[in-house]
Amino acid sequence: MSSALGPKLRAKARDADLCGVVIAFDLDNTLLDPSGLAYRNTVTEFLDHPGLGLSAEEAFTEYEALRGKGEALERLGLRNANHDRGNADALAALCLTCDVGSELLRALDVSGQHAASYHLFLNRLAELDLSTRRGNLEERLEAELAVRRFCAADGRSADFRGQVARLSCHPRIAEWASRYRTIEQRQSLENVRPVVHDLVDRGAGVVIITEGKVATQEEKIHRIGLAEIFDGRVLVSEAAATFPGVSEFRTHLEKRLQECAQSDDTIPDRELFGLWQTHCVLETWNRKTPAFFARCLHAICRNPLGCERELANLTVVSEEDWRQQPLRFVMVGDRYESDVLPLLQLLGPGAGLRIRITEGKYGGFHRDDDLLRDQGPDLTFNTWASLARHLTDDLTADSISPIESAPDVFFGLARPRHFRLLDGRYQWHWTTAFDGRSS
Ligand SMILES: [Mg+2]
Repeated sequence: MSSALGPKLRAKARDADLCGVVIAFDLDNTLLDPSGLAYRNTVTEFLDHPGLGLSAEEAFTEYEALRGKGEALERLGLRNANHDRGNADALAALCLTCDVGSELLRALDVSGQHAASYHLFLNRLAELDLSTRRGNLEERLEAELAVRRFCAADGRSADFRGQVARLSCHPRIAEWASRYRTIEQRQSLENVRPVVHDLVDRGAGVVIITEGKVATQEEKIHRIGLAEIFDGRVLVSEAAATFPGVSEFRTHLEKRLQECAQSDDTIPDRELFGLWQTHCVLETWNRKTPAFFARCLHAICRNPLGCERELANLTVVSEEDWRQQPLRFVMVGDRYESDVLPLLQLLGPGAGLRIRITEGKYGGFHRDDDLLRDQGPDLTFNTWASLARHLTDDLTADSISPIESAPDVFFGLARPRHFRLLDGRYQWHWTTAFDGRSS
């Protein structure tokens, strides 16, 4: 325990006055160092290479823009740099899409003309991919089919993928990617560790609620030395949308989408549309949406110490005892859109406690409108030092309103037609193609 926390804090630590309180932390820019300096330095170190023909600043901007098209890269079977920054695929894609004469590209017989063409191709693909996340279900399905038709019709799709595969093995890029892995220092913010330990000493349950891939998030937690204290309590969006039967479902959906994209019949049949609806529900669980938070809260209520395992258990929705266990819940995060707003939408302004820390890179993003004035975070802190003082000096179990009505919200969001009651438990129920089966 740090002496900086003071005698008052240490006295409180003995009180166990936070028994029954669950405090959830976002990971990136909340527990992790937000400066990203090591990342920036490592990227620019590579990108400053004279053969690339860009200044370090320009190249970094280009690279960040490319990371924003991570989903488009994923469409081509490449690694997504959005959540997994510094990977060789992304760096190779950057070289291919930068409209400059490059030593690396010349070595691989890739001309500048190709680079300009790839740039346009990737931009168009990213644009189409983005539209699959907008509009109603029908519009999103149409957009999904449009992406597939575009990829199939444009010869650059396979060409680009092949070039990235070649280029990502280039010694310079492979070396950079490997060095990035070892150099990147992910550090916790100052005060994080003593405060988290203190909260645990005071009886609070601490969990992490974060978006992304399970392995990536766990690696970050390990690096900042908090793996032990959050053991079994790391709730990652990928895990919320992954349970038995899902991969089978995805394979079937993928097959049907390809068939539909290849046929002249542009109107999807009922089965495909049903599968698509289910896919869209899974997508809401795979991002920081109200539905994802509902699953997290439900998992915590079911098994506070083992909520991570519980999150992948779909039957959590069937337990009546959820209603009998009011939960005192605090969420600490940096982004209004993903750490504050979804919980407001899920629970309303009266339940739980939402704390925003603006020390990270999203600190400058404020919602200066009526919604924020009426439904902003309950507390906002500019630095972890000020947040730490509140958590250690002012927070008590009594200051947090309990949450009692999440299951109803959950059922509404999760579209209950995808579930059916079997042997007293709700089971995942696929649409027509999987009639008679449950997972
Ligand atoms: Mg964050």
